[in-house]
Amino acid sequence: MMQEKWIDLHMHSTYSDGVHPPPKLVEIATRKKLSAIALADHDSLGGFAELSEVAASAGIEVISAVELSCENDGNDLHVLAYGVRTDDAPLLGMLEKFRKAREERGVSIVGKLAEQGINLDMDAILARTRGGALGRPHIAEALVEGGHVSGIPEAFERYIGEHCPAYVGKYYMSPREAVECIHGAGGLAFVAHPGHYSDDVGVFAELLSCGFDGIEVHHPHHNSSIIARLLEVAESRDLLVSGGSDFHGFRGRDNMGEPRVPYAILERIREQLA
Ligand code: AMP
Ligand code: ZN
Ligand code: FE
Ligand code: FE
Repeated sequence: MMQEKWIDLHMHSTYSDGVHPPPKLVEIATRKKLSAIALADHDSLGGFAELSEVAASAGIEVISAVELSCENDGNDLHVLAYGVRTDDAPLLGMLEKFRKAREERGVSIVGKLAEQGINLDMDAILARTRGGALGRPHIAEALVEGGHVSGIPEAFERYIGEHCPAYVGKYYMSPREAVECIHGAGGLAFVAHPGHYSDDVGVFAELLSCGFDGIEVHHPHHNSSIIARLLEVAESRDLLVSGGSDFHGFRGRDNMGEPRVPYAILERIREQLA
């Protein structure tokens, strides 16, 4: 019998809020016997070249990806892009604008922490991102290392989570802008982990009308009934399906490659891209 091939199209590296650099992700993917992977860092394509190089020598297939932060109806909405040209100037310009906005936001958060009597070194926080997208997890780590909190959860609960004294919102774009930008870069746009958002079918339908090519059906936060519903939506609207683990490398979460995503899903995506 032919060996089944599995893929993982959603993981994060140190270029956004993941724990591991791209070569380490390839090492884990090799251990998990994955045939193809995609690095879907938040608002950054910075890890793509490094991942591709290492994956090629490990015999693992790679497709370009990025996870964009959008806002829909006042809610955080993530959009996944697959197969984009990683040298597309408008896309890179948009990601750059995002990173700038994230840096400015980081400065505001650090300023608010200072008002709380906590002084963090902004340069040291920036260094943690290695030129990628600065996120609250980087600031949370600095809070832990500075001994201000006992762990990441406490950092969010006491300081930087929503409704906390040092919380600052993000700069967002609309899903429509994101989809246009992804199409402009030759890629396909997917709604990331729809199970996180409103159960309101109407809201979801309106969202899909922004020109999405597919939805992320397989995700660790989706139970079997969500998956069944999403597969129905994909089928009825002729949308592609994607999936992955959303692996960040957090301690105790060795979940790359889970849930299982069959290789055929990548083949469909490639066919559509061609
Ligand atoms: P940002 O995009 O900078 O707002 O950061 C969002 C990221 O922070 C999420 O993707 C999570 O990785 C992390 N995060 C958000 N809330 C929490 C929490 N309560 N505990 C730990 N991590 C969190
Ligand atoms: Zn993340
Ligand atoms: Fe996400
Ligand atoms: Fe993610």
